[in-house]
Amino acid sequence: MSALHRRDLLAVLSGLTAFGLGTVDSWAKGPSPKSVKPTPPPRPKLVFLDPGHGGKDPGAQGVRGTKEKAVVMAIARELQRELQAGGRYRVMLTRSSDSYVALRERVARAQAAKADLFLSLHADSCDNPDVRGASVYTLSEQATDRETAALAARENRADAVVGGMRLADKPDIVASTLVAMAQRGTVNDSRRLAETIVQGFSRSGVRLLPRTHRQAGFAVLTSPDIPAALIEFGYLSNPQDEKLLTVRQHQIALARALRGSVDAHFAAGAAIRKA
Ligand SMILES: [Zn+2]
Repeated sequence: MSALHRRDLLAVLSGLTAFGLGTVDSWAKGPSPKSVKPTPPPRPKLVFLDPGHGGKDPGAQGVRGTKEKAVVMAIARELQRELQAGGRYRVMLTRSSDSYVALRERVARAQAAKADLFLSLHADSCDNPDVRGASVYTLSEQATDRETAALAARENRADAVVGGMRLADKPDIVASTLVAMAQRGTVNDSRRLAETIVQGFSRSGVRLLPRTHRQAGFAVLTSPDIPAALIEFGYLSNPQDEKLLTVRQHQIALARALRGSVDAHFAAGAAIRKA
């Protein structure tokens, strides 16, 4: 082939390429190898941990001065270590320091990262110093009892500090989120997750509040497509719970129990999809 002819042929081929008829390369190599590529291994699940409060918002205060924002951060770090150790999960935190992050911002961060699971970590307090034990909450349109409604008000109060749009004060947002969650099955996934966490705590000997799984209008649980639960690890207003929550071994035990529940949650989800 003369140099002139080859130039003509290349000009024709590049013209065809411009009309979307394929590249010179793909003609030379036959069908694209993409069709025979093995499917990549599944992306590790992204677990979003939300240590409650932070910065100017200390959360609940213990009788010995323990701050909720500090103990939940310590437990979040243990849980992050536990989850990352097996290589099955990626873990992100809504806050990684003692800083204030608004509730709606916590939700937005998890959604932007396309989290597969959201766990909000807290410790409670109440007027009765005898009340102890852990509890697990999922989103509800109407808080089931006065105690629960008061707790939701306490946890949601954080956003009132900065003013602006107060997600927590808008019951219509909780209601419309619940509709979207129901449509996507997130309500059921979240309730199943909460039951799994309660069972995990129970098996690990974690002291539980009666009727451990409860429902409340928590602003931080309003991602329509991310299964989410809020965990109160115990009561800082109870001296025994307060002491336990600051003990590293207990923090590790709580983190291990939660890691087991996260494993069980995803294993059950995979089994449901296969059935
Ligand atoms: Zn809290």
